Amino acid sequence: MEAKEKAEESDCLKSAFLANMSHEIRTPMNGILGFASLLKDLDLDSDQQQEYIKIIEVSGYRMLNIINNIVDISKIESGQMNISLSTVSINNQLRNCFSFFEPEAKQKGIELSFVKGLPDKEALIETDNDKFYGIFTNLIKNAIKYTKGGKIEFGYGINESKSELEFYVKDTGIGIPKNRQVAIFERFIQADIEDKMAQQGAGLGLAISRAYIDMLEGELWVESEVNVGSTFYFTLPYNNNEISEIVSYVSIKDKQERVKNLKILIVEDDEVSNQLLKIMLSVFGEEIISVKNGLDAVDACKNNSDIDLVLMDIQLPKMNGYEATKQIREFNKEVIIIAQTGIALTGDREKSITAGCNDYISKPIRDDELEFLIQKHFNIYKI
Ligand code: MN
Repeated sequence: MEAKEKAEESDCLKSAFLANMSHEIRTPMNGILGFASLLKDLDLDSDQQQEYIKIIEVSGYRMLNIINNIVDISKIESGQMNISLSTVSINNQLRNCFSFFEPEAKQKGIELSFVKGLPDKEALIETDNDKFYGIFTNLIKNAIKYTKGGKIEFGYGINESKSELEFYVKDTGIGIPKNRQVAIFERFIQADIEDKMAQQGAGLGLAISRAYIDMLEGELWVESEVNVGSTFYFTLPYNNNEISEIVSYVSIKDKQERVKNLKILIVEDDEVSNQLLKIMLSVFGEEIISVKNGLDAVDACKNNSDIDLVLMDIQLPKMNGYEATKQIREFNKEVIIIAQTGIALTGDREKSITAGCNDYISKPIRDDELEFLIQKHFNIYKI
């Protein structure tokens, strides 16, 4: 009986998951395709056009988020999720979270703030940067989703024995009923799935966060009261002893005038992606060459020894991007090769670097990210 009930329950979950997934993918698609078709109307003024474009962009990011969550949970379930440790500046990451979420919070009339528990120098730990950021963004995203007006505060403190940091995200949102406070950490379950109150999201964020925190040897829990709010807590070991160097990401804020002098080779078999790269790169490129497979990429590099930069797709006909890069490296060690791939799995970056690429960017490619990478290797701004 027990086994049967368990099987039925899991069956029910699966159907709920599929229905939820279908909904989660179709809804942003509705926004993308719907507003793309409305954009064809020639009578739109430029404000309306901008508004529609914004909706398409937001819908695209929402869809990407779902896809990333599905891939992450599958990797966790199949044991393929690895951790990669580095020195992480907690305060920097909190600042990043704050600037990322502030506009969204403001728009919803939420007062967002954060508290640094330690001075910058002491707020360094050895952990997995992406997962740490992922956990925090998941918790803040949820807090914003379930809070209308009010306040959200996040931050951390250190325990008495200085062995652990305790992080929190506190909101004044709808809260979680007692009988749902365990289930929300299960995959595919939202706190409100019972009363079918539609909230966007696949119900994967907390399950992913919990798996990450397990991997990083911490704990995650919630304290919540309906109509008062929720506070999510998690801990991470405080291992500040042997930390020396910190690499920080400098974002390019002010667009300066760029030097347009690069000779660029785009290796890309997908026509839309090729077109997108061509337009994005046109501001840096004096000359842009495009090829559609790995063999032609090697030939193009042989015939043009003055190419400065190669954007190398990985999945390519005839010869893949790793192999093409290896062959190019046999006769040209100088050219900067940036791998660009749609697979975006852990290990892709390492594989690309091992093959001889200088850097790696995953699709969908954002123009600011691409610009950051190019600036890293070429001084593209006029002084
Ligand atoms: Mn491809």
